Amino acid sequence: MRPFQYLRPKTVGEAVTMAADHPDAQYIAGGTNLIDLMKRGITSPSTLIDINHLPLKKIEHRYDRTRIGALALNSDVAQHKLVTRRQPLLAEALLAGASGQIRNMATVGGNLLQRTRCSYFYDVAMPCNKRNPGSGCSAEGGINRTHAIFFNANEKPSCIAVHASDMCVALTALDTDVVIAGPNGERTLPFKDFHRLSTQQPELDTYLAPGELVTAIEVQDNAFTEHHHYLKVRDRASYAFALVAVAAALQMDGGKIWEARVALGGVAHKPWRYWAVELMLRGNAPSEKLFREVAEHEMRSAKAGEYNAYKINLTANAMVAALKTAAGIS
Ligand SMILES: Cc1cc2nc3c(=O)[nH]c(=O)nc-3n(C[C@H](O)[C@H](O)[C@H](O)COP(=O)(O)OP(=O)(O)OC[C@H]3O[C@@H](n4cnc5c(N)ncnc54)[C@H](O)[C@@H]3O)c2cc1C
Ligand code: SF4
Repeated sequence: MRPFQYLRPKTVGEAVTMAADHPDAQYIAGGTNLIDLMKRGITSPSTLIDINHLPLKKIEHRYDRTRIGALALNSDVAQHKLVTRRQPLLAEALLAGASGQIRNMATVGGNLLQRTRCSYFYDVAMPCNKRNPGSGCSAEGGINRTHAIFFNANEKPSCIAVHASDMCVALTALDTDVVIAGPNGERTLPFKDFHRLSTQQPELDTYLAPGELVTAIEVQDNAFTEHHHYLKVRDRASYAFALVAVAAALQMDGGKIWEARVALGGVAHKPWRYWAVELMLRGNAPSEKLFREVAEHEMRSAKAGEYNAYKINLTANAMVAALKTAAGIS
């Protein structure tokens, strides 16, 4: 591991100034992803800015939103009364991620910024556009069993890796904003615009500018507290990343669906939300037939590689199962 300087700011302003003064620096929170990347030589910051002493752990309700500080631990968020009462889909998704031990270290900000789990990204002997831009994508002609099936329709992807987070799939289905501090003050980004699809700059996962710090997320109140389900399909029952995940949330009344949210994980470079499906569900009575129709509609735009064609059926089936559970039909 390359030697690095260690800094410990006490305020958000100090942290952002430190990052501006050290362009090669990285923030460290729980370290559950960053330390692995540093040990393997995938990233080698000259400076680590330890943000753990910043006052960013609070979980509170403000106006019509649940505001969760960037340093709140995944385990604390999943158990917090405000979250279990107002945003139970988020709690479900968090509990599907990693293990109890990791959730006790991992923070909300770090979860948003975690890197992909593509095995070629972690193997520094192999070409990888995300790790080493322009070197090529080993997964394209390699073992792409866990890789993406949805892409930006207008551009050939230079990286076919998927986003690894469970929490982010639920946040994509809900109305969430990311609060960001930078050298020019604070700004807010809608969650749907936070992560990038793979374009010509696959090394960039998000639209954060260099040195910007995530300080909180804000999740809007919603009417999805009764009918929701997070379904994660994985190789092992725990401690494994999603092959496919579905966050489904419905607002139902009088036997009909009035509002629907469906977001997918494990299928694209960012958590994937398909607005067309949500429109198709609105105003209809829930049934397996309807859910199958919308799931198959979505799958028409999927494109598989040599080893991940199974994901197309798996995703459709997972969508149907998650929507049925959310709707409470057998
Ligand atoms: C064995 C294992 C299994 C896992 N399984 C799952 C799983 O099933 N589902 C899942 O969703 N996740 C899983 N994870 C990933 C885990 O959730 C992430 O490692 C964790 O959320 C990262 O949080 P952290 O605080 O430790 O981040 P760190 O490792 O400290 O940082 C990660 C990145 O985020 C940046 N960063 C951190 N905080 C901020 C901030 N506030 N503003 C700007 N940048 C910031 C850092 O600079 C770094 O680039 C797993 C991890 C491991 C090790
Ligand atoms: S899919 Fe992305 S992360 Fe994986 S080898 Fe290709 S460029 Fe690298």
